[in-house]
Amino acid sequence: LNPDFAGLGTTIFTTMSALAAEHGAINLGQGFPDEDGPADIREAAARAVIEGPNQYPPMTGLPALRQAVADHDRRFYGLAYDARDETLVTSGATEALAACLMAMLAPGDEVVVFEPLYDSYLPIIRQCGAVPRIVRLEAPGWNVPQGALAAAFSPATKLVLLNTPMNPTGKLFAGEELSAIARLALAHDAYVLCDEVYEHLVFDGAAHHPIAALPEMRARTLRIGSAGKTFSLTGWKVGYVSGPRELIATVAKVHQFLTFTTPPGLQAAVAYALGKEDAYYASLAASLQAKRDRLAAGLASVGFTVLPAQGTYFLTVLTDGAGPSFATDVDYARWLTVEVGVAAVPCSAFYAGDNPPQNMIRFCFCKKDEVLDAAIARLAERL
Ligand code: PMP
Ligand code: GLN
Repeated sequence: LNPDFAGLGTTIFTTMSALAAEHGAINLGQGFPDEDGPADIREAAARAVIEGPNQYPPMTGLPALRQAVADHDRRFYGLAYDARDETLVTSGATEALAACLMAMLAPGDEVVVFEPLYDSYLPIIRQCGAVPRIVRLEAPGWNVPQGALAAAFSPATKLVLLNTPMNPTGKLFAGEELSAIARLALAHDAYVLCDEVYEHLVFDGAAHHPIAALPEMRARTLRIGSAGKTFSLTGWKVGYVSGPRELIATVAKVHQFLTFTTPPGLQAAVAYALGKEDAYYASLAASLQAKRDRLAAGLASVGFTVLPAQGTYFLTVLTDGAGPSFATDVDYARWLTVEVGVAAVPCSAFYAGDNPPQNMIRFCFCKKDEVLDAAIARLAERL
């Protein structure tokens, strides 16, 4: 067996969801909404499945969805991609990440990546024989340390992997941070892979800006989106990549042997969904912002230090002073799940480097108000 995988544990999201189910805890761990996305999108999928065809769609995605992705990128960001060969449909952002990394990385290449980081990044980078160069962001500001960023680049740098809005921090990379990353990528002739699955989950009137839209960056950047997050349909696993045709062509070569394609009925429905009116996108963000505020107020009221989050489904909190102390965040999250009945994710799961913080956990707020309130009531009883 491949020791890189045989030695790995099960993901923290699966682990905490299973523990929550076992103990009847309210699950604010794994990031998924507890209400399905819009009925008209689900009806479009049902119709497409009934009417067919249900055979293999084109390898790079249904033309209607590739056009919808290109239209979306132009509409929201002024980015011009040719639907025919500068977009690619994948089975979720997870597959998109694997396909892009495998397309760009050769053994010995270095990847600049920010910590805390999403759990699928490092196993794939390492499987490519590439070497992660990790830049740690520090709470509570999560600002990019410019000296450490510059020092992470070397003649072997092939790629910068960036996630904005960022899981688990809720950080939206600032304009000057994106410019600094772009400057370094240009100076080192590196690619940029930007995981933008939370692009529409941005709060307080802020806006997401793709790094691909910065001067000279389009030619070296791949942008990843996911219908799971944009339409509250995380189980659908429909993702998409946009980028210059020279890069997309090789990503498609990987994709053809990872999954080859993605269910056509879901692709047809996502093609319809991406064209939804501005009011849909605005109300998604507004509803999540209200939930963030509701959960943040509740968590603060029971003694957590709640860190600011400008986007995503997530709030991170410091646990010091809230309930008993534990040696690790994993122990704390276990206690919270088993004894208090509220599941959260220990943030050390998002760290690969030495000495991850042991006093930080992540709560997911894309839940019904009554579920958030019930969780706060349980916390208030015990903390
Ligand atoms: N990237 C990030 C940062 C995520 O949080 C997630 C999880 N939802 C993914 C990628 C995977 O997205 P998908 O479900 O579309 O595969
Ligand atoms: N992205 C989701 C999270 O951060 C989980 C996805 C998964 O379970 N793989 O919670």
